[in-house]
Amino acid sequence: MAPSYVHEARRRVGPKRDRIRPIVERLAVEHADARIALNFGSEVELLFSVMLSAQTTDVNVNRVTEHLFRKYRRLEDYLAVPPEELERDIYATGFFRQKAKSLRGTARMLLEEFDGVVPRRLEELLRLPGVARKTANVVAAELGDPQGVVVDTHVRRLSQRLGLTKQEDPVPIERDLVKLVPRADWGRFPHLLIWHGRRVCSARLPLCEECVLVDLCPSSRV
Ligand code: SF4
Repeated sequence: MAPSYVHEARRRVGPKRDRIRPIVERLAVEHADARIALNFGSEVELLFSVMLSAQTTDVNVNRVTEHLFRKYRRLEDYLAVPPEELERDIYATGFFRQKAKSLRGTARMLLEEFDGVVPRRLEELLRLPGVARKTANVVAAELGDPQGVVVDTHVRRLSQRLGLTKQEDPVPIERDLVKLVPRADWGRFPHLLIWHGRRVCSARLPLCEECVLVDLCPSSRV
């Protein structure tokens, strides 16, 4: 969009502070089923699924963890096999050497420093080998205590299109979103954007004619 159109579009929809609540409310109705798409049966499985999901799809991770979590039932199991065996077992998620190293390192630290329990606090989650900010945020939110807003590729794109941030990188985008999104919604907000991004506002072809945010979005093509 040319600068004058951008300005005009922003003026048309009004300030983001006034738009954020209706955006969350409408998306919550539209995507009432929005939730994490990874399958897991315990807190450790949640953490490991999210770690494995880096640079691959949730569908792919679920396919791998279906077998993985049947074979590795306890944290000790990840340390009991030769590293190459774990690498083979997670091969299909990509970056398998690094991921296997992270899973083993995390299993060891959980056992040695956290009594085998996944910690709640972001600072503690971030100490685990191979756990970066996005993973920590996803896990904390799923454990019921979101301490930030998850920014993935969909959240980034939709936040920009909706005029909620002008930033490009995940950390400054998150900084903008935590100031704007009510704290009670930090957990569900990313899921709502992710599902809206998958179903309606895709990167290539946003379906603005079918979008419930059309009057709240400065990027609407309608
Ligand atoms: S109006 Fe269009 S660009 Fe804006 S959120 Fe909806 S689909 Fe995306």
